[in-house]
Amino acid sequence: MNVDLHMHTTCSDGVYTPAVLTKMAVQAGLGVMAISDHDTVAAYGQADTFAPAIRIIPAIEISSDYEGEDVHVLGYYIDPQNEELQAYCAQFKQRRQKRAMEMLQRCRNLGYRIDEEQVAAVLAKGGTIGRPHIARMLVEKGYFPSVAAVFDSLLQRGGPAYVPYHRRSICDCISLIHSAGGLAVLAHPGLLKRTLNAVLAHPFDGLEVYHPKNRGRYEEFLQIAMARNWYVSGGSDFHGVAGRFPEQVGLFTVPAARVQRLLDYDKDR
Ligand SMILES: [Zn+2]
Ligand SMILES: [Zn+2]
Repeated sequence: MNVDLHMHTTCSDGVYTPAVLTKMAVQAGLGVMAISDHDTVAAYGQADTFAPAIRIIPAIEISSDYEGEDVHVLGYYIDPQNEELQAYCAQFKQRRQKRAMEMLQRCRNLGYRIDEEQVAAVLAKGGTIGRPHIARMLVEKGYFPSVAAVFDSLLQRGGPAYVPYHRRSICDCISLIHSAGGLAVLAHPGLLKRTLNAVLAHPFDGLEVYHPKNRGRYEEFLQIAMARNWYVSGGSDFHGVAGRFPEQVGLFTVPAARVQRLLDYDKDR
């Protein structure tokens, strides 16, 4: 059996709704999946639309930062109803919205025309706007050939339309996940450049050993997880965005045996 413990939906910056994504996972033959949207558990409010033929581990991916590098902390087996977690998500959404409006304004100040209708259409669909949405609007307008090109020119950290945002410390993210009953797992360590060792010194419960961006380093990350007796996790980070690997559900999966301890976690509770 293959599993995918890292997937995004329209509730954050994915392209497919939770209903469609769970159906796609079933069609791809997955036995277990985790919907781990960025800083929201909104997908679990639509649990009645999930395809029934698949086990879904409740999850979230929380944004943190360490000395200028993005650090993402996955929370598995969180209680989506947990009040503290819900409050965090509500506050994050509010701040994200404010920040998106500032970035849109910067784009306009730089001479790019973004219609209010485009903004309204995104808000009507998912409720939040992030950098990928802004990038797609500029591609739709014909200003750039791809989302990646918009990020390179305008929206990446330090870019002319980028607005920094406040993130919780890694320790605060871990505590939040613990208070919501979950396990805190460091996401895609392969993306960390300068700060990997310092980040690994934090009290995580697990490491995302298997991820497209960790390629060629699975053994290294597995050793790190084993040395700390951490849970091993793995997933595709599927968003459904063209040009961003993996483009299809099921292209990157993890054999269940490699993450068995994590899959069995709720059995011991
Ligand atoms: Zn991430
Ligand atoms: Zn992710």
